[in-house]
Amino acid sequence: MNTGLKTDELNPYDVIVCGAGHAGCEAALAASRCGAEVLILTGNLDTVAQMSCNPAIGGQAKGQIVREIDALGGEMALNTDLSAIQFKLLNSSKGPAVQAPRAQCDKKAYQLRMKHVLELNENITTFQSIVDGLIIKKDKCVGVKTTLGINFYGKSIVVTTGTFLRALMHVGKEKAEGGRLGDHVAKGLSADFTEYGIELNRFKTGTPPRLLGRSINFEKTETQYGDKEPTKFAFYDTRNQEMFHVEQKGRWFHVEQSQPLPTVQCFTTRTTSQTAEIINKNLHLSPLYKGDISGTGPRYCPSVEDKIVRFGEKEGHRIYLEPEGINTDEWYVNGLSTSLPFDVQKDVVQSIPGLEQAIIIRPAYAVEYDYANPTQLTRSLESLKIESLFFAGQINGTSGYEEAAAQGLVAGINSARKALDQNPIIFGRDEGYIGVLIDDLVTKGTTEPYRMFTSRAEYRLLFNHTSSELRYLPKLQIINLVSRERKQAIVSKAKLINEWVLRMRTEKVYANDTYADLVKRGENEMVLPEDFRKLHKETRSEILYRVKYEGYLLRELKNIDRMKDSERIKIPKSFSYEDIPGLRKESAEKLSVIKPETLAQANRISGVNPSDISVLMILLAKSNTN
Ligand SMILES: Cc1cc2nc3c(=O)[nH]c(=O)nc-3n(C[C@H](O)[C@H](O)[C@H](O)COP(=O)(O)OP(=O)(O)OC[C@H]3O[C@@H](n4cnc5c(N)ncnc54)[C@H](O)[C@@H]3O)c2cc1C
Repeated sequence: MNTGLKTDELNPYDVIVCGAGHAGCEAALAASRCGAEVLILTGNLDTVAQMSCNPAIGGQAKGQIVREIDALGGEMALNTDLSAIQFKLLNSSKGPAVQAPRAQCDKKAYQLRMKHVLELNENITTFQSIVDGLIIKKDKCVGVKTTLGINFYGKSIVVTTGTFLRALMHVGKEKAEGGRLGDHVAKGLSADFTEYGIELNRFKTGTPPRLLGRSINFEKTETQYGDKEPTKFAFYDTRNQEMFHVEQKGRWFHVEQSQPLPTVQCFTTRTTSQTAEIINKNLHLSPLYKGDISGTGPRYCPSVEDKIVRFGEKEGHRIYLEPEGINTDEWYVNGLSTSLPFDVQKDVVQSIPGLEQAIIIRPAYAVEYDYANPTQLTRSLESLKIESLFFAGQINGTSGYEEAAAQGLVAGINSARKALDQNPIIFGRDEGYIGVLIDDLVTKGTTEPYRMFTSRAEYRLLFNHTSSELRYLPKLQIINLVSRERKQAIVSKAKLINEWVLRMRTEKVYANDTYADLVKRGENEMVLPEDFRKLHKETRSEILYRVKYEGYLLRELKNIDRMKDSERIKIPKSFSYEDIPGLRKESAEKLSVIKPETLAQANRISGVNPSDISVLMILLAKSNTN
């Protein structure tokens, strides 16, 4: 139970989280679930869990991440379900491994609910103030300084400052400091990081203009409907709540009242040859092309000027019009991110069918910010340079709410465990996208804003979104992240699935055919036993997936076993790579910086080749037997 704001060095918090974006919120909540007393400091309490860009959660690989966050007791999934205004299962006609839930959210409802969750948590104190520096004693972080002149002390500190470090926004030649339009900048922390040897680099990202809905001619656009039956993100609606605050339906013509939940329509249109012409004519005014922005941007989320330059021959680029909420007439123009001057933005918008009369109510802009190279972290997301200092979210060079939230969850768990003298919990590449994300970041680093793709996961066939809670059951058995009842429910579900898979494989329907044979032949579910058809939709889908793709899944499991052999060979933190005969100098340098924790991790470092690994393997085998 928290006792109010504490500033006494002798009575520190267990965990202090700096920043209440997607990473910070999950970090604070996860740490509190692990039993830590948490202080979360944020520059602006009105922007807790703000979606800086697109008002949507999920999508390819990201949707699977959100379900993993939910499986581990995180809040993002439930918060999305309770503030979503359109659900869509992407790739619903393809195999389960690539199906991904996505939801359009009411942006304000999302923020307010997450803020409320923090406020209601008795282990968390929330306070608005900007963290300006670190308090370091003997290479260990013991607290933070704020611009209010107040110092706070913590056993672990988690930095989740997103795009705010030395952030500079650009609209044409106009520049302003701030991590987000209308928001603050964080300067002092960057100076401290540099002073304590943490390497910082620059990235940039951008966002499109927002339009006034009543100025859009929707008749000239194409309608995008959501799914009639929503695929929710949370496995269990633990709060048993109704939708959060979005039930007031306002004036909305695009709200389908007949749905059990309020859902909206989105719309699509396309850029035209006139759009391309305007952009080409004004390219010299784009800070990106003028050289005013030096940071690297997200390759997979390019600005519209980038798209026109790189894919000039393409006839029009698709633009999605997405409402920012039920109680606002503000529309997000997905696909039109730009940093061109405002008057050019206006011309660009009005060159698009349906937007001829559109009124911009917020300009598009780009933001440049500092990020800390993530190879300076361990797999628990603790700094290799400063003890008890953890990093999560966009500051680690990632892009996206889901990637940030996943890291927040991992840093939250491990910062709490560090504060409570417990061993770190490591998420493996074989367990899910969260493990792939963390391992990619700390092992390979990133030279452009990192976003998750299914192709980054070598065992992606096993990472279908319905199986997340089954995959993480072993972790849930050792960390207190979900209730005992929920754990029990997962154990029962796993048992039920195993029993059904076995029954389908062995029980004969016709002379030579088992149920599994029918499933593999793609026969209608009606041929399956009636008690099977009565199971919950997700349980049914998991059983069918395991039966249908049995051969492929077994092959993946064998690959994991092989990988685990080298994952078991640990490398001590103090291991010296200097002067090892046969180990190339370039590899030795990389290994000394990244300090891999296992031989498998060493093997994944780019530039470290199989002969280097053989040398290490012999050496480690020797030291293990001595
Ligand atoms: C303009 C813009 C465009 C974007 N476009 C895209 C996109 O196209 N695609 C995409 O995937 N992602 C995009 N993003 C990124 C996306 O918003 C982030 O990936 C995600 O929000 C990161 O979450 P986070 O928790 O790490 O940081 P943020 O959500 O940025 O949250 C950081 C939090 O920390 C607080 N904070 C910062 N410094 C301090 C301090 N010193 N003291 C106290 N509090 C502090 C802030 O107030 C904020 O609450 C964009 C972001 C911006 C700003």
